[in-house]
Amino acid sequence: MEKIYYTSPYEREFEAKILDCRQEGEKYAVLLDRTAFYPEGGGQPSDTGYLGETRVTYVKEAGEMVVHYTDRPLVPGMTVKGVIDWDKRFSNMQQHSGEHIVSGLIARRYGYDNVGFHMGKEGMTIDINGVLTWEQLMEIEREANRIVWRNVPVSVLLPTEEERKNMAYRSKKALEGQIRIIVIPDADSCACCGTHVAFTGEIGVIKFLSVMHYKGGVRISLLCGRDALYDYERKTDQLLDISSQLSASTFATADAVRRLKGENGEKDARIGELWRRIFELRAEQLPAGNGKIAVFEPDLAPVQVRQLCECLLERGRGKIILVCSGDDSGGYSYCMGSRSTDVRDAGKALNTALQGRGGGSSQMVQGTFRAAQRDIEETFGKICAEFEEEKKWS
Ligand SMILES: [Zn+2]
Repeated sequence: MEKIYYTSPYEREFEAKILDCRQEGEKYAVLLDRTAFYPEGGGQPSDTGYLGETRVTYVKEAGEMVVHYTDRPLVPGMTVKGVIDWDKRFSNMQQHSGEHIVSGLIARRYGYDNVGFHMGKEGMTIDINGVLTWEQLMEIEREANRIVWRNVPVSVLLPTEEERKNMAYRSKKALEGQIRIIVIPDADSCACCGTHVAFTGEIGVIKFLSVMHYKGGVRISLLCGRDALYDYERKTDQLLDISSQLSASTFATADAVRRLKGENGEKDARIGELWRRIFELRAEQLPAGNGKIAVFEPDLAPVQVRQLCECLLERGRGKIILVCSGDDSGGYSYCMGSRSTDVRDAGKALNTALQGRGGGSSQMVQGTFRAAQRDIEETFGKICAEFEEEKKWS
């Protein structure tokens, strides 16, 4: 079986004879006498495209053969025209070639290996078995792009086993048989079965996106060529949108966001202060006393329900205080507290009676009720009376 992608990676159309076609589940597995379709492998995704009018969705290696998966059957013995999705393939060639330069430079400068490589729809990642900082990676990125701009040839060597003994090249595993060594001057020599560009200039650009710690080393996320351009376009759109919303120039957006967050924090503090005053005024409206009181306030967040409860307890407005906020249709968030009595059992009893949930400490329980205000008031009164009668509360 002739593997055109090895010898002529730029061949996007070819003619081949159909050797076999078998149904496998929903798909058909097609064998050809020659193919330009790259099968998934070495971190590079498979090509897609057409055999005649029939869509090829996935291609994989099976022993020495390449299996094409199609959505319709093809007739063995016929000759068919194959067309690969070139934009996708060329993008893969850009990514893969860029990956070689980056991995090669890291190996040369730091002695770290590429131990994992993935190319997918979401981008490309390289796992390196040593830690590199963002600053170190930026140096590698600049160096890698200089090699792109020099537009040096990417050559494929097919050395004999004897010749290989004296060659230095990166390789993930011990290899046997005919091996392809991809050589990029001043950057990399690496055993690889993927597809690559002929000259580094075709990579366009190499851009690192992020780095994270991963298995004792780092995982670098990067893009090359077309995908890097698309990423730049999307990020520019985002940045222009942010810039216009903040009325800040694009390179002043981070400072503008920091300033906005600072102002927001000050506003939150001011609003919190105003709420505290409202709660104090509310407390003043209630008489001081030693009773069991239920207070309903509209539109409070759970944290404010708690603040109001604490404020009323502080000012001695009751021995057991229940604060609720919400409405009859959506339910209520509540906070029940006491300075002298354990309220946990009463909280549980209220939850049971009022389809509630929640809990807390001996002095304060918080949660929600799925019940109407009237039911809450009635149940609270009833439970307070019961607890008193049974001397559960001192
Ligand atoms: Zn490669």
